[in-house]
Formats: sequence, structure tokens, C-alpha cells
Amino acid sequence: MNNKLYGNLIFELSHSGRRGYSLPKNRFGHHEIPVEMRRENDAELPECDEMTVVRHYTNHSENNFGVNNGFYPLGSCTMKYNPTINEEIAAMPDFQELHPLQPSDTCQGALEVYYDLQQSLAELTGMSEFTLNPCAGAHGELTGLMIIRSYHQSRHDDKRIKVIVPDSAHGTNPASAAVCGLEVVEVKSTPEGIVDVEDLKGLLDDSVAAMMMTNPNTLGLFEKEIPEIARLVHACGALMYYDGANLNPMLGECRPGDMGFDVMHVNLHKTFSTPHGGGGPGSGPVGVRKGLEEFLPSPRVIHENGKYEIDRKAKGISVGAFLGNFAVILRAYAYILSLGKENIKMVGPLATLNANYIKECLKDVYELPIQGLCKHEFVFNGLKDKSTGVTTMDVAKRLLDYGYHAPTIYFPLLFHEAMMIEPTENESKDTIDGFIDVLRKIANEALETPDVVKTAPHNTPITRVDDVLAAKHPIVTYKQMINDND
Ligand SMILES: *Cc1c(COP(=O)(O)O)cnc(C)c1O
Repeated sequence: MNNKLYGNLIFELSHSGRRGYSLPKNRFGHHEIPVEMRRENDAELPECDEMTVVRHYTNHSENNFGVNNGFYPLGSCTMKYNPTINEEIAAMPDFQELHPLQPSDTCQGALEVYYDLQQSLAELTGMSEFTLNPCAGAHGELTGLMIIRSYHQSRHDDKRIKVIVPDSAHGTNPASAAVCGLEVVEVKSTPEGIVDVEDLKGLLDDSVAAMMMTNPNTLGLFEKEIPEIARLVHACGALMYYDGANLNPMLGECRPGDMGFDVMHVNLHKTFSTPHGGGGPGSGPVGVRKGLEEFLPSPRVIHENGKYEIDRKAKGISVGAFLGNFAVILRAYAYILSLGKENIKMVGPLATLNANYIKECLKDVYELPIQGLCKHEFVFNGLKDKSTGVTTMDVAKRLLDYGYHAPTIYFPLLFHEAMMIEPTENESKDTIDGFIDVLRKIANEALETPDVVKTAPHNTPITRVDDVLAAKHPIVTYKQMINDND
């Protein structure tokens, strides 16, 4: 790579003039990086011709599996379709070219969208106010727990150091509590798969700061004891936190705010349709009930005297850069408006219908540990016939051969061979029937040609990877890759 050419790196900040930057310009009229900020040595970039680079990335993109090219029933993740209009709106130059520090007079439209989404989420969830600042569900959990801690501290109630988390909870729940400096206490599930109220009673005392719950929980079951749980938790002075990752089946049907939850997050990238996976992008707005608004982090957008303003007066905490992941916020806004008040009520029932349909069609060949109606997702515990030695991992790998993304497997940890299936409301009956046929076919193969299933996948670019090794010793730098290939 020619250092002289790239050392003189040119940035085309084509619109920067308008925004008032004053970087020096070079002889092409482009803005230049000041000499003292330029690198002295060559960047160690891999070298190859453009054609090779284009082929490399095009081939990679074709090996990728997304909800845009196949069924993606990944339980707990709500991999719903992201309507194209969302993308068009998020890509509009009027939004793309905004600068987070530009005066609010010059971006009233964007602030109005932001404000309206704060209000819409409050209405949909029954909370009083929202911050759109956190950038993921887990980030929202941490923010929510920090809010809860600030609330207790404001009352000089410093002994509340514990967070109660159900044994079916997503791993981010205990992780967020630990990152927040709180102690995690696990509450058991009943054989029916919901929180064991008797076990909970024994855990509640004045050292508890909060109880975290997901509803419907990760087994896809509605926590029907929730009024009693909220009553008990509040009676001991603790607050109720709602993990909103499973809000999808409740959309327009019922609201966490009416169930006694005090603080919650929403995963915009799940319930409100932004393509996610592989770590982002996300947005995890946090809402609080009446009386806790002062603990919300800033900045938030407020509407006063007919003007939208960015309110930067945080009382306690601040969690993310600027206003958060604005493009995800735009998609959520477009999604809510395009569905409208009536259609949004169809999301929950359709997601629930699809999940129950798959469950009922396959429960004769896959083991269903918890009978009865589920909500938006459910869990099989591997194949019913365990004598073949075919595991959930094998079934998941074989699904790839048939062109399906695998469901979530080995989570929740309550069952040894968990397969967690969430179809969402988006899928047609044809797609769902096709998936059911394939899972049935795999169950047959497990009986007749088990080795084919045990050695799957056969049609993918690579076969089984050592995922434990990949997770524990990831190769994340180009240099390391080269050396490892030597
Ligand atoms: C996805 C999920 C989370 C975490 O959300 P992220 O946006 O991935 O950080 C938390 N709880 C449950 C139940 C989830 O499904």
C-alpha cells in the first residue's frame, strides 16, 4: 500500500460545510486531516486487488442466513421481518446526515419522531415515561437496575443489594445485576414452568432491591401469578423489573404497567422490527412508572411551548452516547405507525397461534415437557424417542441442510435437550407447514438413518465447528489469522 497516497488520507465530508466544521481543505477542495493527527507508519492492512475484495465480500454475504432469505425460528430473539419501508425511512438523507450536537432548532422533525416514540412506548406498555438512550436489551436491564438502585439510595435504603431472578431467566438478567454491583438470588420454577411463589416468599426481605421477570417467560408461558408476585415484592419494599424481550405476544393485548411492574425495557430490535443478530444494532429503551421519572437518565426529548428540546439534565445516571441508536428508533417508529392502533393488536395473537400450531403438530415426535397453551414460543426437550442417540444439536444441524435457521438450543437450562421455537407473527401457513414437515422428516431420519443426522450438516459451506473452542479462543485479528495459517 502506498503510504504517500494514504498517509495523505482525504475525508469527503461533503456536507460538513453546512454544519459549520472548519477543517483545512486540500487542492481537490476536500477536507484534510491535520498533519499532527495523521499516522506516521503504514497501516497494516491486508493487500489485494479490488476484484478479490468484491468477490470475498459478495461470497460472504451469500453464505449469510437472515430472516430475509429463510425461516428463522430463534426462540427468545423474536426474529421478525423488518418491512422494507423501515429501511427506506432509516436511510433518508435528512435523518442520516443529522449531527448529534446540532442545534435543536435545526432538527425539530427528528426530535418530534423521537418524542413520539417515547410517548408511544409509554402508551403501549402502561409506563409513565421512557428514555430511548440504552443501545440493547442488556443495556436497558443495566440502566433499569441503576434506576432502581438510585431510587433506593434516594430513600437512604442502602441495605438493598439483592436482585431476585427466576431460574428460567435469560443470562443477561443475572449478568446485568452483577455488573450493577448487586447480588443475584435465584428463584425456582414450578413443574408447570412459572415462578414458584412459595419459593419466592422465602427469599423476600429488606435486603432485596428488585425482582426481574420476563413475561411471558422464556418457556413461552404467561406468569399468571404476577399480581400476587408484585404484591409480595412491593410489600417488602422492592421494585418489579420487567424484561421486555418477550413483549411481542402482549402487544396491544395487555401491558406490563398494569401488572405491577415499576421499571422495564423494550428491545426495539425484537418487538419493533430491526434486523439484528451477530450483535447488533439494537436499542433498549427503558420505561418507568409514575413517581420514578426523575431517575431516568438524560438526554431525553421534551416538548414545551410547541418546541422539541433535548433535555440533558440527568439526576442520577447517564448511559449512552447522545440520543442512542437513532436509526433503530426510526425503524420502530415506522413500524408502529405502519401497523396502526388496530393492526398492532394482531401481532400477539398471530405469534401465539403460530407457536401453538407448530407445537401441536409435532408433539407426537418431539418431547413436549410442558403441556398446554403457550404464548409466542415453546420448548421441546429433544426427540421423543431418545433410543437413537440423536441429540438436539444434531437436529439443529440437520435443519441447516434443509435451509432453515436452527431454533435456540440448550436454553433455557431447565431441560437437557431444549429446543426453543419462536415463529413470530410474520410467517405464512405455507412456510410454517414446510418447517413442520422438515422437523418430522428429521425425526424419521433419526430412526432410519441416524448417522445422517448425527453427522449433519452436509450441504453448508463448512460442517460442524468446535463452538466451545471458537467461543473460548476466538481469532479476532487478521495478523493472528495469518500466523495461525503459517
Ligand atoms: C434478547 C433477550 C435479552 C437481551 O437483549 P439484547 O438486546 O440481546 O441485549 C434479555 N432477555 C431476554 C428474555 C431476551 O430474549
